[in-house]
Amino acid sequence: MKKFQKALLLLKEIKKNNQQAYIVGGFVRDYLRGIWNHDIDICTSMTPDLLKKHFVVKEEHYGSTVIEYQGEYFEVTTFRKEIGSKQNRYPAKILYTSSLEEDLKRRDFRMNAICMDENKKIVDLLGGKEDIQKKLIVSIGNSEQRLEEDALRILRAIRFATTLNFTLESSLSQAIIKQKHLLKEISYQRKKEELERIFSSKQAVQGRKLLIEHQLLDVLEIPNLKNTVLYPNSLLIWMQLGVDDIYPFTKEEKKKMKYLRKCKKEEWNIYRIYESDLDTAILIGMMKGKGREEITILKKNLPIQTRKDIHITSEELQQLIAKEKIADFYQKIEQAILTNQLKNENDMIKKWIQNHR
Ligand code: ATP
Ligand code: MG
Repeated sequence: MKKFQKALLLLKEIKKNNQQAYIVGGFVRDYLRGIWNHDIDICTSMTPDLLKKHFVVKEEHYGSTVIEYQGEYFEVTTFRKEIGSKQNRYPAKILYTSSLEEDLKRRDFRMNAICMDENKKIVDLLGGKEDIQKKLIVSIGNSEQRLEEDALRILRAIRFATTLNFTLESSLSQAIIKQKHLLKEISYQRKKEELERIFSSKQAVQGRKLLIEHQLLDVLEIPNLKNTVLYPNSLLIWMQLGVDDIYPFTKEEKKKMKYLRKCKKEEWNIYRIYESDLDTAILIGMMKGKGREEITILKKNLPIQTRKDIHITSEELQQLIAKEKIADFYQKIEQAILTNQLKNENDMIKKWIQNHR
């Protein structure tokens, strides 16, 4: 059974207890756009305490639970009103309510406040369906106020406009410009997650245009985005922004970005394909106008895959070259073999060394 069918069953289970429950948010929005979203969010009048009595609650966080149901995980959130602006992700106060409408009104955009009941019937109290038809992102309530409550909505708006190819309704667009300074208060981690989705979108060009039009580059500390090449990989975009120490990256990501910057500056060099793992080699290929397939085949068919494949033993090398020069020579031999200047044959390599030492 599909996760979606299980979600509908879960709604039925909750309703048996005289409680309300709906699928809400991205799943319903994308369902109406004819697109399958694997993330199914559920909202319900049932409080977390009651949910725990009836279901397997794996996590609970600020009234939001993760329920395991028939082997699937669902984020189930109790209807709530949020009081005060969000600081560090959570509002000052949460009040549970039994009113669906109240819960929908605390959500960000009308297209994200459409519900589906256990019979797949759409419940659209705020007019989100029409927005989807018009491909328009409209705030719930006053845009300026909603962005002030939670400035992350600025980036969510731009992200949705980018990935869904929607337009920002004009009051929302103006409010973003007016409230942009509030992004300073948002954690780099959350900003990075949204930017990541913008950069990895097929419509990243549109995303950049929107970020520029709404004057967000400076407050996000990514002024270089104006001049970056929008390669179809987010790390290749991040590495051009030079924000390794501002936004949170892992050690490995930082190392990779540094390496990729070096590769970007230099001419095409087959040695980089040889020394890198396939994923990195594919990224290098992207920068040099070579496709994934081309690089995969190229790497697979290199005359050598590692130093061990060179047809000369270290003893033989030691007889021919001074010890301190061996490391350097190894690299030269690899380079010569990879560029087809030298055949990977023992006597050829020996001759080559004699000529080059
Ligand atoms: P997707 O899962 O495709 O990223 P989504 O709309 O489901 O999109 P989630 O982050 O999963 O986004 O959030 C689920 C729902 O919770 C949203 O549809 C929206 O109704 C509400 N929501 C999420 N973040 C916010 C926010 N910052 N402010 C108000 N409502 C929000
Ligand atoms: Mg979602």
